[in-house]
Amino acid sequence: MKNKGRLIVFSAPSGCGKGTMLAEILKDESFRCSVSATTRKPREGEVDGVNYHFISNEEFEKRAANGEFLEHAGYCDHYYGTLRSEVDPYLEKGINVILEIEVQGAMNIRKARPDALLVFIAPPSVQELSRRLHKRGTETEEVIAKRVAAAHEELTYAPKYDYIIVNDALEDAVSDFFAVIRAEQLKTEFQSEFIDEVLKNA
Ligand code: 5GP
Repeated sequence: MKNKGRLIVFSAPSGCGKGTMLAEILKDESFRCSVSATTRKPREGEVDGVNYHFISNEEFEKRAANGEFLEHAGYCDHYYGTLRSEVDPYLEKGINVILEIEVQGAMNIRKARPDALLVFIAPPSVQELSRRLHKRGTETEEVIAKRVAAAHEELTYAPKYDYIIVNDALEDAVSDFFAVIRAEQLKTEFQSEFIDEVLKNA
């Protein structure tokens, strides 16, 4: 247990600055982000195998039937899923694996992996989230409206997470994330081997 990586679920409605936060967090090499599979089309600048594995509906359904997903869910008319191959080999190596997934997936992970740490990233307000989505300019008005409605729904799940971080100022949110990780590492359950060692050498 001590040398294994921690599975971390990182959920945030789109427009919460999750991508920017993750870019900062991933500068620390003990963290990696699992690359999900999705059936949605790549946005401008997104690279297959880096941002997502972009696959067809047919392939997604085939892989799901093969049991290749740790979890998968439908979101805004598309499938999204976490491939087991993106997670377990890295946890074994002691790397903390972050799953950037929506709330249904998070709840499924909670059941499948009760030791996972669930962190919810919230916007300061829904109005601010809508403003950020317009500013990003990567989606049509209709898609933005769908995503703002989805954000409403997702925020109702926030109390089911272990921690809620409000992303108002990026630097503060990132530092809150590392504070959470540090506090978790100091939890009694992850320190038992250390105490045994100290007692043995006393
Ligand atoms: P986007 O289309 O903006 O990249 O992602 C839409 C939503 O799907 C986000 O909330 C994102 O976290 C979620 N998502 C991305 N990958 C996965 C996945 O593998 N599983 C689940 N359940 N959700 C995912």
